[in-house]
Formats: sequence, C-alpha cells, structure tokens
Amino acid sequence: MLSTLGFRSIDDLVSSAIPPGIRVDESLESLIPDAASEREALAELRALAAQNTVRTSLIGQGYYDTITPAVITRNVLENPSWYTAYTPYQPEISQGRLEALINFQTMVSDLTGLDTANASMLDEGTAVVEGMLLARRASKAKSNVFVADADAFPQTLALLEARAAAVGIELVIADLRGGAELPEHFGVFVQYPAASGELWNPASIIEASHEQKGIAVVAADLLALALVASPGEHGADVAVGTTQRFGVPMGFGGPHAGYMAVRKGLERQLPGRLVGVSKDATGQPGYRLSLQTREQHIRREKATSNICTAQVLLAVMAAMYAVYHGPQGIRSIAQSVHAKTVMAQRVLLEHGVRVTTKQYFDSLSVAVTDADAVLARAAAAGLLLYKVDEQTVRFSFDEASAQDSDVTARLVEAFAEEHGDPLPVPEQRAVMPLGGDRGARAYAPLGLRQYPETLARTSEYLTHPVFNTHHSETAMMRYLKRLADKDYALDRGMIPLGSCTMKLNAATEMDAVTWPEFAGLHPFAPAADVAGTLELIAQLETWLADVTGYDTVSLQPNAGSQGELAGLLAIRGYHRANGDDQRTVCLIPSSAHGTNAASAVLAGMKVVVVACDDNGNVELADLRAKIEAHADQLAALMITYPSTHGVYEHDVVRITEAVHDAGGQVYIDGANLNALLGYARFGDFGGDVSHLNLHKTFCIPHGGGGPGVGPVAAKSHLAPYLPGHPMAQTNIHSGLTHDGGPVSAAPFGSPSILPITWAYIRMMGAEGLARATRAAVLSANYIAARLRDHFPVLYTGDNGLVAHECILDLRPLTKQTGISVDDVAKRLIDYGFHAPTMSFPVPGTLMVEPTESEDIAELDRFVDAMIGIKAEADAVGAGEYPADDNVLVGAPHTAESIATSEWTHPYSREQAVYPVRALVHAKYWPPVRRIDQAYGDRNLMCECPPIEAFA
Ligand SMILES: *Cc1c(COP(=O)(O)O)cnc(C)c1O
Repeated sequence: MLSTLGFRSIDDLVSSAIPPGIRVDESLESLIPDAASEREALAELRALAAQNTVRTSLIGQGYYDTITPAVITRNVLENPSWYTAYTPYQPEISQGRLEALINFQTMVSDLTGLDTANASMLDEGTAVVEGMLLARRASKAKSNVFVADADAFPQTLALLEARAAAVGIELVIADLRGGAELPEHFGVFVQYPAASGELWNPASIIEASHEQKGIAVVAADLLALALVASPGEHGADVAVGTTQRFGVPMGFGGPHAGYMAVRKGLERQLPGRLVGVSKDATGQPGYRLSLQTREQHIRREKATSNICTAQVLLAVMAAMYAVYHGPQGIRSIAQSVHAKTVMAQRVLLEHGVRVTTKQYFDSLSVAVTDADAVLARAAAAGLLLYKVDEQTVRFSFDEASAQDSDVTARLVEAFAEEHGDPLPVPEQRAVMPLGGDRGARAYAPLGLRQYPETLARTSEYLTHPVFNTHHSETAMMRYLKRLADKDYALDRGMIPLGSCTMKLNAATEMDAVTWPEFAGLHPFAPAADVAGTLELIAQLETWLADVTGYDTVSLQPNAGSQGELAGLLAIRGYHRANGDDQRTVCLIPSSAHGTNAASAVLAGMKVVVVACDDNGNVELADLRAKIEAHADQLAALMITYPSTHGVYEHDVVRITEAVHDAGGQVYIDGANLNALLGYARFGDFGGDVSHLNLHKTFCIPHGGGGPGVGPVAAKSHLAPYLPGHPMAQTNIHSGLTHDGGPVSAAPFGSPSILPITWAYIRMMGAEGLARATRAAVLSANYIAARLRDHFPVLYTGDNGLVAHECILDLRPLTKQTGISVDDVAKRLIDYGFHAPTMSFPVPGTLMVEPTESEDIAELDRFVDAMIGIKAEADAVGAGEYPADDNVLVGAPHTAESIATSEWTHPYSREQAVYPVRALVHAKYWPPVRRIDQAYGDRNLMCECPPIEAFA
C-alpha cells in the first residue's frame, strides 16, 4: 500500500499528511496504560464487575427489570448481523432491520392508540422534551407556556426545565390531577400512570388543553397499556415513553429505545427516524426511511430535531419481545405485574403499613416515619426501593419481581418498623384471567384489578400476523435469521461510509455488555452497589480527556448530536455566568454535519454560516468578516476537525485564535477523531469543548442506527455547565463538578455499552491507538491513489494527501454518461458492497472511509468494483447501452429478477449479478429491486402492511 503511495514508511506518510503545527510533542504513553491482552482486559473487567452488587430493584421510576428472551439475546443483541449494521439509508440492503423497525412502530402505535409512531427516541426523558418541542411547532396557541405534570418522573422534569430554558419556553409545573385550572399554554404533559403510581384518567385535562388549542403529550408506560386504556383513547395528541421493559436490560440507565407516537395530522412533525412502506422498481412492497430522515442535512437549523443516531438495536429487541410474546403473552406479563402489586398492597395494609396509592398499575407509595431506615432494611433484605422524601418510599414491580416468590415477604420485613394496626384493604375486583400459555400467567396468583373499570382497556392491540406467528423458539430463531439474511452488515464486508467510521466491533470488546453485574443495575441504585461501574466510568472519562487534551468528560449524552447540544449548552451557561447573555451567535462552516446547526438552535443560538474555499477549508477572510459583524454577540464557532471534507486544515490554529480573540468559544466536532487519535489533541489546538462518537472512533457497534454514546469533553472553565443529573451517584468527573441541566434521562447515559470502549482503549494502549490512526490514514490514501485516475478526488491537503476519508467526485461521470451517484451506489450492491456516504458533504459525490479494520484484499475488492462500475458507466456514455436500460439503472438485481425464462435486457444475466467472477462463491442477494423513495413519501404508510401486500 505504501509503495502505491510512494512512501517508504507509514511514519513518512503520516508526517506528510498531518500538519506539524497541530501534532502533539510527546506520545500518549504516559497517559494511557500499556496495552492489555484480550484475556487480561476481560480479567480486569471481571474484577470491576465484581465490585457491583446486583440486588432486586423495585426502584421503578421509568426503569424496570425484565426478562430478555434468550432467543433475542443470542440472535439479536449478540449477533453481528444485527449489531454491526448501519442506519438503513440504503433501503435495498436493509429490509430486515426496516421490517423489525416497522414492527416496533406498529407495536407502539397499537399500544398507545395513536396513528403513527417513529423508530425511535433516545430515552423517555428526551422523548418528553421532543414532545414539548413538537407541541410548540404544531400548536396554534400564542402562549409560550408548557404545563408539566408535577407527578412525573423527576429526571423528566429536570430535562424539561433545562431544555425549555434554552429555547425560551416557560415551564409551569402543576398538580394536574387535582383538576387545576390550566393557565394559558401551548401544550400540556401528563405522566400516565403517574410517578407516584397513581393511575387516573387524563381525558379531562386533555380536553381542557384542546379548548385552548394546546397539544397534549402523555408519557405512558407501554406495559401498563396492555391493561389500561391508551393515551389515544383519552384524546392525547402525542404519546411518548420508553420501551425498556420490553426485554431490554436496565443496564444502569441505558441504552434503551424511547418511543413517540402521534395522532393523524402530526406525522410530518415527528422527530428522528420514521420507517415507511414504499414499492420497488417492480411494484413490490419495500421498506424505507421516510420523510425527514436526513432532514438535518437539508434543512439544517430549520430541522425539526437534531436526532441522528437513535436506538435501533434496542428498538429491534423491544419489537421482537412483542413478536415473541404476542398480545396474549404481553397481557399476561402485565397482569402478573399488576396482580403482584395488588397482593403486596393487601399484605402491607394487613400489616398496618400506610400504602397511600389507591389506583395503580405496578407502583405503590408508602408513608413512613423514616425513609432511610426502610431503605436500609430493604437493602439488607436484597431489595432496592425508591426514596421520595424523608417520609415517603415508593416501589414498583416488574416482569422479573412478579416471578420472585418471596419478594413480598422481604418487603414486609423492610417495612417492619412501620407495622401498625391492620388498615382497611380496598375491595379488589377479579377480572377474567386472559393470556397465552407462555409468559407470566402461571405466576399470577389471581386476576385482580385495582383501577376503575372505566380505565380498563377494551381495544385490541398487536393484531397483525407478525405478532401472532413466531411464538415458539424455533419459529422466532428462524424469523430473526430470515430478517438478518436480508441485510448487509459488517459481517459480510466493508461498509466504507465516510464520516461514520464503520470499524470492527471486536468480540472481546462486546463480551461484558450482557454480564448481569453491568446489565442488571438500576440507574438510581445506591453508589455503593455500583462501585465497579463508577470506577469504569471514571477511568474511561480520564482516558478520553487525556487523548483529546481536555480536562473533563461527561459520558451522559446518548449520541453525537446530544454531545453537541451538551457542549453548546455549556458554552451558553459560561457566557451567561459572565453576564454575556447577548452572546448567542454560533458560526458554522457550510460543510458542517447537519446536526451541528440543529443542535445550535436547540441551545438557543442563532446560526451564521461561514463559507468554505475551493479546497474545502474554512475561508479565513469570511470567518474574520463574520466575527467582526457579530463581534460582541459571538458565542461560538463550531468546526469539525479534520473537516467533513476529510482534510487536515493547517489554518486551524489561526481560526481558533481569531474566535478566542473575539471572546467566542471553540466547539470542535470530534466525529472525525479516527484521523487524529495519538497524533493531535483538540484541546491543544484551541478547542474549548468537543463531542466524541464512541460508536465511531471507539468501537461501539452502530446497531443499525444506534445505540450511540456522544461524550462531551471540555476545558475546566466549562466544567460547571456540563450536564449534571439530580439522581447521579456523583456529579464529579475527572475531579471537576458538572452542575448543568441533564441532557439524558439517566445520569451516565448508556453505561451498559461503555465496557466496549473501555476494552478497546485498554487493549490498544497509547501506541495501538496511534497505530490505528496510521492504518486508517493509509487506507484512505490508498483508495484515493488507486481511484484517482477514474474519479477525481475532490479535496486534498498538503502533499495531495487526504486524512481518514476521501471524497470521490462523480459529477463529471454523471455529466458524461448520465449515470448518477444513486446508480453507482445501487450497482455497488450487485458487486457485494455497502455504498459509501452519498452526497454529503458535497452533492453528487461519494465519501469513502475504509477505516483501519479493512485489509488490502478488501480495499482492492472495493477499488476493483469502482473501476468496473466506471467502465460500465462509460459504456452507457458511449451509447453501447440505452440510458434507461443498463446494468447501472437496473441495479440492484435480485435473484428473482434473473431467474426468468425470458430476458429482454441488452446486458446479460451474468453481467447483472456476477460482474466479478469471485461473486459466484460469495454473493449477497438483495431482497428487493430499487426502492421508489418519492412514492413512499407521497403515500405515507408506517405500519406493518397486510400480508396480502406481499402476495
Ligand atoms: C456522525 C456525526 C455527527 C452526529 O453523531 P450522531 O451520533 O449520529 O448524533 C455529528 N458530526 C459529524 C461530523 C458526524 O460524522
């Protein structure tokens, strides 16, 4: 590879590519421990895990223990065909995960009783925030007030407060259950059932809000909705929540899939991903991402949301939990949880314990004389309860504790000091036990109901055949395999997506994710119980701060976009603390990732675009002009380094100095860190704050579009404004306190996947990280060099070199031959490849990022495919094939499309599916022809289509 590039050593190459001005003088060796072997790293992880204590959590508050069916753990969570896939932008190679996601949407829409659900939100708390922002966009009310239920989860209220303040929404927290008069408002939020456990009918509040043109957002517990009437039936406009308790381990807070569903008329306001049904070139149904999927790249600061990476893998797990259990199974599980709660209430009342909750699904509040004493006794009995205040304790049952035969006895023990004279036991109505043969019915002692009959659910859900077919493990295993076989993930070949860093997610790195000591923790468990995870987090934060040249790191943000928001909110907090409230202008280069502008708006900033020059660099003159024009309003510059053009700009130090001289802060988008790690640090060349993408540079798998972790790293002056959390076991990070408002529902975001990054850094060591950078830069330059004669490489830095990715300009080819970027991307499927990033950051181009994980054989296979496609396009340009009937516009080709007795195309069947001989032995067959994107947007359909559609 080096000789192709004309370099003698890889060090020579890297020295030429990375500008000397930004290189770190010493290596990271003093900062990162020496590389551990796989065996050693796992042993250290086991020692950390052993420091955690997993007690039975009855803490509830949005996080519940659940039983992940083993068939889902093994075939989804631990299966690279699912976890190494990318976001399904290329629908033809993503039909499996798109089907799984449409199952998710159908499940959410059925259970919430609303028309359209997305896939997915980052967690419940941020989903409520998105609901508030949606209400602001959609409501015709003039008011600036959003009314929130006082009896909501505290983490949700903390998120609402922080996010409302940033965009100038006035938050009013009110006791809605008392039937309070609603002030003038544009939206109202109700928790259903309430955080206290109380289950009450929100219909009259919703109606009162509608009278004022308000939009009603209801956060509903999906499992409760199996028994109680849905938000849709109560008139809600928007339902939000989490799907965690549908088989996704608590994992100390995440990752889990949040959800959002809306009534008809609001579907075009949905943030995030929405899967829809369209048709392929032959008219057969095919799935795709609909509408605003890539809207940040198009609408930028006008985007409805900054959410890019979501929680796809977890949404798939939750959907499959519903597929496996079916409506009867889900109902049985819900009944068992409810019955367990009813029995506990009865027993506690008989012991004179003052249970104050009257109507409920799974949670009870208890008045006590000394909450700490009760919690201590509970812990001694192996139970974790939730302390509301000194005189109130709360607990919730779940699928796991409902099967725990002595949990009620242990509760009685925990409340021993509170025992008094027996209290009246409320009348409990028996209901007909419903349910299938699996799940929890066997454990439900009685069919009991402790909520009014008017709230009982009578409507059906999960009626589609997909939820009523795969109920045996054999059927489920085969369904999951069938879907996985439709998709292209890293277990088939390279996914050379620029800006996405689709590197290996090593098996050893993945190992600890499912260990119960990490997966079984409740996010609000006491610090002593989670000591091992807290230590892992502290080590990881320190390493990440050290490799980026910052002082402190917060692992709370659940994606890159959320890290951006957290960083910009920190900048906002800093300026305001200095009395610079007017500093609200955020400069963003035209080449920036779309999330940058969308995040700036959510941080209450005004976006001003800075031009790029012909080489793709920030245009210094325009930057200086914009700084001057906005002098004392300048809040920040947001730049990506190396740039989204894949080039190291050597002006970066002058750029950051100019911003600092004007009193602004520098945000460096760290998504491209894979080109820098071990060679340069953001903090050393002027960054004040950055986010990193652990699901890019640091090996967390992409999961088909999530989970992600987007830690925010900053200099010490911004530390006080980084995200804190009211329930955090500690708000001290790398020795500095984080006191800003939260950006995620859980204090540490998604801790159960942090062992992946921990293991990567631990097994690489400082030298290994630098070596990965070298290999990534070498691979990108190798591809650029080999393809340069066939496709112009759009931008290069000094010495004609690129960083870790390269942009191939297809516009000349399109002009000469009429073959588009889309045609090339789809033809790559026939050659057995996932397309590179299309038309970002430059329309009409492909951005290729091979990463360090691909060897020369795979790189050559890709180069040969691209050269082959170029020749095919040239043949079309030369008139050898008609413009509307050739291998490129006909791509991709399915097996069905060539298995015909008649063949009318001017190219052969072999040319169609075996353009390279080697494909005969290893062929990926796409399940559909090219999907019609526009048709799907015009005819929006976001639920499982009827089976007949596939006839
Ligand atoms: C991926 C990416 C982001 C957004 O990260 P998400 O985790 O998808 O939210 C932001 N900026 C750049 C340059 C990126 O490549």
